[in-house]
Amino acid sequence: MQTDVLVVGGGVSGLRAAIQASVEGAKVTLINKGSIGTGSETAYLDHLIELTVVGVSENEEDKTLYAKDLIDFGRHINDEDLVNTFVTNSLAEYEYISSLGVPMEKIDHTYPSHRAPRLIKGIGHFGQNLLSRLKNEAISKGVNIIENATLYDVKEETSFRTAYVGLKAKGIVTDLRMQFSSLILATGGGGRIFSISTNPGGSTGDGVAIALKLGANITNLEFLHFLPLLVKPIKGYYLTSAIFTKGYMKNTEGEKYIPNYPPGYQSMEDAELQGYLLLDACMWIQKQILEKRVTENNGVYWDGRHLKEDIKERIPNSYEKLKERGLDLLEDIVEVSTGCHQLLGGVEIDSAGSTNVPWLFAAGEVAGGFHGAERLMGTGVMDGLVFGARSGSSAAKNAMNTKFTPEIEREKPENFEGSLDMDIQSMKQEIQKKMDHILITKDNTRLQSTRKEVHNIYAKLANIEILSLPVAQRLMLSECMNITVLSLAYIDVSMRREETRGSFIRTDFQQKATENNPSFVRLVNQDVFEVNI
Ligand SMILES: Cc1cc2nc3c(=O)[nH]c(=O)nc-3n(C[C@H](O)[C@H](O)[C@H](O)COP(=O)(O)OP(=O)(O)OC[C@H]3O[C@@H](n4cnc5c(N)ncnc54)[C@H](O)[C@@H]3O)c2cc1C
Repeated sequence: MQTDVLVVGGGVSGLRAAIQASVEGAKVTLINKGSIGTGSETAYLDHLIELTVVGVSENEEDKTLYAKDLIDFGRHINDEDLVNTFVTNSLAEYEYISSLGVPMEKIDHTYPSHRAPRLIKGIGHFGQNLLSRLKNEAISKGVNIIENATLYDVKEETSFRTAYVGLKAKGIVTDLRMQFSSLILATGGGGRIFSISTNPGGSTGDGVAIALKLGANITNLEFLHFLPLLVKPIKGYYLTSAIFTKGYMKNTEGEKYIPNYPPGYQSMEDAELQGYLLLDACMWIQKQILEKRVTENNGVYWDGRHLKEDIKERIPNSYEKLKERGLDLLEDIVEVSTGCHQLLGGVEIDSAGSTNVPWLFAAGEVAGGFHGAERLMGTGVMDGLVFGARSGSSAAKNAMNTKFTPEIEREKPENFEGSLDMDIQSMKQEIQKKMDHILITKDNTRLQSTRKEVHNIYAKLANIEILSLPVAQRLMLSECMNITVLSLAYIDVSMRREETRGSFIRTDFQQKATENNPSFVRLVNQDVFEVNI
């Protein structure tokens, strides 16, 4: 078995990248942590939300406006080349997935955050439809797909690079090593550095942590999209903003939340107003958390019972899904807290999906620069398609120029005598809880103290020789280490951004800076990062 291009991640971006690399003549292997169709954000589309929308720009005039919408919404620190590449290629990618038979329909209205009607709605279970068609296409183009395979390390040696992969099959975890020419990171988001997130459990920021280790630049890592999310029965479940903003909230002492309406507010149907109110609600919830007026799940109470049939009409899927799990939104009061929906930054790429490491490429949520300080809705799937295709093409070209004779070698598990006498799962949860304190607002004191606490955990993990452990323990350790490294980098770059911009709120620096500077972070050594803004 030979691998020119190794794609890590089986969501929309990884599958699109693999297809393109294969079409351009490379031998491609795609590995995915779980099975394709579960455990990715793409698989969560229409499962954790009511519907999926995809922004598509169909004419020249709209392309200019779409780019302006993205940059205005991103508060002017997006990479303009990436934005222009995105709007220029969105129609072709939409036509591509249509040609594969993914059911979609145009919606004639738009959301005010998009200043033109350019949204396409997924029909049925969009995420599953998209993944199954892309997977079939990848297989038909000769891509070798290995599921339940997790990349936990990459080593560069003089004449070759090796990917260390843990492979789960029938309850047994074995080690698989792959040599490759080009590596595409398509590992999705890193929302799981916080305890509540819409992201799947495996969104532990593996790609960003691996890229840092390989010397890649990470950009705009301090920006994220947060939301009020249900704490139970489904932790991280999102109630559409049009419904959420019409409910009432109370803390555990019975004090009511009173929304701060922005000056000149007009209609509750206005998405920008809803965005503003969600942010305001999140800030109030965070205040309750910091003042300990919350439930044991860090939640406050949300009551939407007065909305009656409006709930059933607007969020029929969510209503049914939650009812099946014992929560009736028409009769019950709900616990909500704040959670992370998306890390907006990630591995710095150019419009070809290339990074500053010549053989490393990235696409989708793991990559950064396209979004700025906020995210326009309906851009995640298209981001994965546009930059997936481009990174696949670039990786294939790179592989053609640097040929290895890759070999795949399995290790015998009995070789490993070390053992991990730590409760890694609890350490992971401890980090997530500490990071919750700096999810919504930040100040220097909280950033410093969170860094100290996260670093204490880092210090316990840093000297463990991962290869001495059985493979299953390597996977646990590497996920925890990824969360830790990503958290430290996030804190360091947040400390350096001394301003408030978009969803990045520094209570000790409440003004926007005069310059529109993106941020760049790079790992210098172990836990030392160089940050440039
Ligand atoms: C609830 C929700 C609603 C959304 N709604 C919309 C919407 O309406 N419109 C829109 O455009 N976007 C939406 N998005 C965003 C969109 O779903 C994502 O941006 C997009 O699916 C990301 O695709 P991806 O391929 O980058 O990542 P993913 O789909 O998450 O795929 C990454 C894959 O990599 C795997 N992986 C991770 N680490 C490793 C490793 N170390 N080794 C091997 N494999 C690994 C993961 O298991 C996963 O399968 C939504 C997201 C969520 C969560």
